[in-house]
Amino acid sequence: MQSPSGKPNLFGLDRAALGAIAAGLGEPAYRAEQIYLWLYRRRARTVAEMTDLTKGVREALAATHDLRWPEVVERGHSRDGTIKYLFRLDDGATIESVYIPEDRRRTICISTQAGCPLKCVFCLTGISGYKRNLVPWEILGQVATVMHETEGGFRGGRSQPSRRWPQRERPSRSRVSAPPERRKAWNVVVMGMGEPLLNYDNTVVALRALMDPDGFAVAPKKLTLSTVGILPALEKLMQEPVRPNLAISLHAPTKALRRELMPIEERYDIQDVIAAAQRYPIPHGGAVTYEYVLLGGVNDQPTHARALVRLLGGSRGKVNLIPLNQAPEIPFAPPSPEAIDEFCRILSEARITVSVRRPRGQDILAACGQLHLKRGEVPVPAPVAS
Ligand code: SAH
Repeated sequence: MQSPSGKPNLFGLDRAALGAIAAGLGEPAYRAEQIYLWLYRRRARTVAEMTDLTKGVREALAATHDLRWPEVVERGHSRDGTIKYLFRLDDGATIESVYIPEDRRRTICISTQAGCPLKCVFCLTGISGYKRNLVPWEILGQVATVMHETEGGFRGGRSQPSRRWPQRERPSRSRVSAPPERRKAWNVVVMGMGEPLLNYDNTVVALRALMDPDGFAVAPKKLTLSTVGILPALEKLMQEPVRPNLAISLHAPTKALRRELMPIEERYDIQDVIAAAQRYPIPHGGAVTYEYVLLGGVNDQPTHARALVRLLGGSRGKVNLIPLNQAPEIPFAPPSPEAIDEFCRILSEARITVSVRRPRGQDILAACGQLHLKRGEVPVPAPVAS
């Protein structure tokens, strides 16, 4: 895709690509590492800031490359502090990311595709269509922008504020309710628009830079990728040397019901997806999360909860219930509070760890499943899942 200047973007390149650029300039290999640190750990906005490069290298880089993050065209502020970012990309595609402040952490929810080809019937992203895969700089640029806007620019080389917090200084829960904003650890969830495992190669380049201690330095256990379970890509992800946490979008306890809600079930069977998820090496011996959107009267009844217990029986993992977030285009109702309680009770009695996701940013359509292509964007036909 052509950038406005016609120059390729430095941001988003991996070590190998930066190494090739350094070699092309006749520079030693460590130059590439210096540039890498400036791009992802310090998140420099211009090549001119890269002060440990020689002037000649800086000039050569700036002459041949851009250094850009995606353009923010709108910020929506929710009453609960959530901020929804709308980015416009070079070809006019728009994507959304969400910043979610919480008591003890802060989370960035990022997109990996403009739109989504999966067409899950309760998800606004799917309903409004699919445009294209995002490339690494477009994925990483969402994180860089939100981190930059929340904590300002680089201040002295430490990318993970929680690490420089000696234990004895850490305020106890009883004395201080929450750490100051800049000291809260970052969580990144790949749960925005799109199916990350249908955009495997670009997503993995981004995941590596996010988890790299010399990059964004997000701890693997604080990075979660959510997927419907694109099996060949999930198998590949397991082979990565460093992997994020895994969340599987389940949403139904049986093949028949899942097929009605999620067309991808035709291609990748629910049992096979669970079997693969059980083999996935979760960071620090954690457990896979099974996401289950509760749709009033459709999949939220005690029979469904019991079927879910049978489906997951004996599996390692926890269930995250997501009461439906509504939008006028979504043809379902949220579950009643009683149905949520009863569903939880049945799972807990079967010794399945269960949590209920609190909706964030609903008033600005920033909650799960509410991100969508803007009016006037033309969706393209969905590609065939690999
Ligand atoms: N394609 C990936 C990434 C999207 S994650 C996946 O499906 O896992 C977004 C999560 O929000 C998924 O679990 C998705 O099923 C859920 N979701 C979608 N629409 C929703 C809605 N209207 N209300 C609540 N959750 C929704």
